[in-house]
Amino acid sequence: MARRIDTYLQALLPDEKFAFYESVRDFADSEIAPHLLDWERQHILVPDACVQAMGDLGLFGLPIQEQYGGQGGDHTDLVLMGMAIAYHSQSVAITPGAAVSLGAKPLQLCGTEAQKKAHLPDLAAGKRMFVFGLSEPGRGSDAANPEVTAIRKGDRWVISGEKCWSTNAHWASHVVVHALTDKNGKNGRRSTCFIVPMDQKGVHYQEMKGKKVWEQSSTGSIMFDNVEVPHDAILGAENDGFKVMVTTLNGGRLFIAGLALGSLAFALDKCRIYAEERTQFDNQPIGRFQRVQDVIVDMDIALERNLTWLMHCCKLFEAGTLSREQAAKVKVDCSRVASDLLVQAMEICGGVSCFDEFGLIRHHNDLFVTRVGEGSNFALKDLIVRPLRQA
Ligand SMILES: Cc1cc2nc3c(=O)[nH]c(=O)nc-3n(C[C@H](O)[C@H](O)[C@H](O)COP(=O)(O)OP(=O)(O)OC[C@H]3O[C@@H](n4cnc5c(N)ncnc54)[C@H](O)[C@@H]3O)c2cc1C
Repeated sequence: MARRIDTYLQALLPDEKFAFYESVRDFADSEIAPHLLDWERQHILVPDACVQAMGDLGLFGLPIQEQYGGQGGDHTDLVLMGMAIAYHSQSVAITPGAAVSLGAKPLQLCGTEAQKKAHLPDLAAGKRMFVFGLSEPGRGSDAANPEVTAIRKGDRWVISGEKCWSTNAHWASHVVVHALTDKNGKNGRRSTCFIVPMDQKGVHYQEMKGKKVWEQSSTGSIMFDNVEVPHDAILGAENDGFKVMVTTLNGGRLFIAGLALGSLAFALDKCRIYAEERTQFDNQPIGRFQRVQDVIVDMDIALERNLTWLMHCCKLFEAGTLSREQAAKVKVDCSRVASDLLVQAMEICGGVSCFDEFGLIRHHNDLFVTRVGEGSNFALKDLIVRPLRQA
């Protein structure tokens, strides 16, 4: 049975974009989906061979310019890649997704020519990754005011403190650290970003244990114990670090919205097929009950509407006209609608939904991350409401 998401994407996309989506979809079907249960049951991260296969396919370099070894594509390609892989597993999709949209993106947006030349070719090839060091144990939504500090000593900086929730830390060669550099500066002008090698003296990484979402994705805690870096480790301008971070997050939020829709697309197909195959009461399919149809139709409406909206936002992003509010809104809505409907989809499928091999419980758990990751939905509403409060 054809995937419902394919019908909508084919209508929304130019032929070459749809063909690209199909190529990643087919890769995910053959190289990822058959192994997921094993990886989950063994509690392992995405295996290196899979990371390499995604690298060979160019997935780590999609929107990176060709002059730096990338594919020269755009943000729509990245979001399509995320949806195609997230149909099976968000945690596999986020591996190249975060590497590109959070790791390479700040370099692309704010790096000097020397920084780009030094790092982008390896990042585009998936040979190594950058992680996005914004969140801290004591600073999540209040990310503009980091507790991690960088103190200037002559022509060097000394960084101290802890970052956490760092996606892809396991594979990272460098972390982009967002650190307080001017505590008396204006809000949003107190911090600076630094490119710090993970093997630098004083950097200590450990995987965060016990995470029951995005299970195949690496999530690290990174300690900085008086880590010295040169002045040219700064990414962007001094005391402009928060701007580097929030500019990066606009694109990242579109990617997260796409992950949510990938999960919703899976749930819709799973549920509508199950509702026709499962027979009860006179051996008739449960799909004949209006309440069951109601949930399936709601999923279908949500998928078509939000896909259309998301593809539109990707175009605005490429044109440089996507506002922070628009990126936040589409992320908030895709994640909450998909996760709310996922619970109903599980109810339609009954007890079998509880089993890992059925797949819905994985998407249920992973969709929670789309609600809090890259800005918790409730905190993002603070941003969305601002223009609404102007007279
Ligand atoms: C799997 C995973 C991967 C992640 N990867 C990364 C990464 O690679 N890099 C990185 O830097 N971070 C990463 N994060 C961190 C993520 O961005 C934060 O979890 C998120 O910003 C929320 O911060 P917090 O969890 O500290 O929640 P808090 O900031 O403590 O907020 C908790 C809750 O309080 C409420 N709240 C907080 N502030 C407001 C407000 N202003 N208005 C209304 N309500 C509010 C909301 O309900 C919110 O959900 C990741 C998180 C997860 C779960």
